[in-house]
Amino acid sequence: MKTAQHFFYQNDTLTVDGVPLDKLAMQYGTPLYVYSKAALTEHFRQYADVCKQFETDDIHSLVCYSVKSNSNLAILNILGREGAGFDIVSGGELLRVIAAGCDSRKVIFSGVGKTASEIRLALEHDILCFNVESFAELRRINRIAAEMGKKARVSFRVNPNVDPKTHPYISTGLKENKFGIPYEEALAGYEEAARMPHIEVTGIDCHIGSQLLDDAPLLEALDKLIDLFDQLAQKGIELKHIDIGGGIGITYDNEIPVAISDYLTRIFGKITTWKNAKYPGQSISMMFEPGRSISGNAGLLLTQVQYLKTNSDKNFAIVDAAMNDLMRPSLYESWHTVLPVVKRQTETKTYDIVGPICESGDWLARQRTLSIETDDLLAIMSAGAYGMAMSSNYNTRGRAAEILIDDKKAYLIRKRERPEELYALETIIS
Ligand SMILES: *Cc1c(COP(=O)(O)O)cnc(C)c1O
Repeated sequence: MKTAQHFFYQNDTLTVDGVPLDKLAMQYGTPLYVYSKAALTEHFRQYADVCKQFETDDIHSLVCYSVKSNSNLAILNILGREGAGFDIVSGGELLRVIAAGCDSRKVIFSGVGKTASEIRLALEHDILCFNVESFAELRRINRIAAEMGKKARVSFRVNPNVDPKTHPYISTGLKENKFGIPYEEALAGYEEAARMPHIEVTGIDCHIGSQLLDDAPLLEALDKLIDLFDQLAQKGIELKHIDIGGGIGITYDNEIPVAISDYLTRIFGKITTWKNAKYPGQSISMMFEPGRSISGNAGLLLTQVQYLKTNSDKNFAIVDAAMNDLMRPSLYESWHTVLPVVKRQTETKTYDIVGPICESGDWLARQRTLSIETDDLLAIMSAGAYGMAMSSNYNTRGRAAEILIDDKKAYLIRKRERPEELYALETIIS
């Protein structure tokens, strides 16, 4: 059984950085998300360190962690202290970044549906940039900035129409997707934006999809952004940054994603050559919006087997985690490795790992060969991204507690939700 560096067995018991998971389950209960601070910072530094290597007087960079992948305050705070900026997709996420003690001036705001109040909030907090996804949004930002007597920094999220070759639900850079501004319309849009009194055009961005294993589509997208940059420069519109988005994949099963350092080396190689040839002396900042590749393999979901059951000839392990805790399998049919917390030597069987929710779609893993008994603990691996962040209260199930391991100590970074908290906002009418 293959385990990642921060999740390993000691004396046949699975640990997170040496802290045994059975002890955590006993103390905090299940289902339980457990993250490794060491893994999280290591993944962030894979980006930050290469960015630093390529830093010059006029080539800068900012790694903006995608808050939606895992937005726990403790996680945002750790990344903020590492120097991260943040890519947000709602006003709520901006308030989280601020509550985590991080700098709102390092925030970029993506998303197709920014409301007037979200735009106002972002302007109040002087965010770095709006990643604008439509002309209607651009006009709305200009109007609100005018009301506030401010100038809003904007980048256009262009749709480069490249195929990321990933799951259709997480592919965002094709022209039929709802995201971004069509490539062909961007030039005219920038000219309109440059004339708006309360808009400062600062950059260009894209985000073509998620769980990309190969960086070729990203490099192709970068070429398209560079091409638009050049066309804009000829029209006297000077951009200050290029943001290539997030999307680098992780190993869930046996996928081999491109190494972050190789990917960034190719990106900076391209940028350095191009910039030095065409814009010597001009300052440019490269931005990235990674989510999954930072948080995904920094966490797991711990769950306990409630019942073992056989229907016709199929074996089910019914566990206390469900699709409301980890939605990815039911939403994308995604694979998560399942490991026993304490290894057994007894006979193995093939199980579907399912939750207690009243939906046939409520499964976490299918056809896994395991040696398990009732009350055993299982670890659903690679659950740090889009796990807790996508969780819900369906079936009036409180969200799981979250634990962060730092230097062999466990910290409760989110308490388990209690049922009375779930209906506290509701009212009975007379
Ligand atoms: C979700 C998202 C990201 C992060 O994607 P990952 O695949 O988790 O790296 C980055 N940018 C935008 C605009 C997003 O919507």
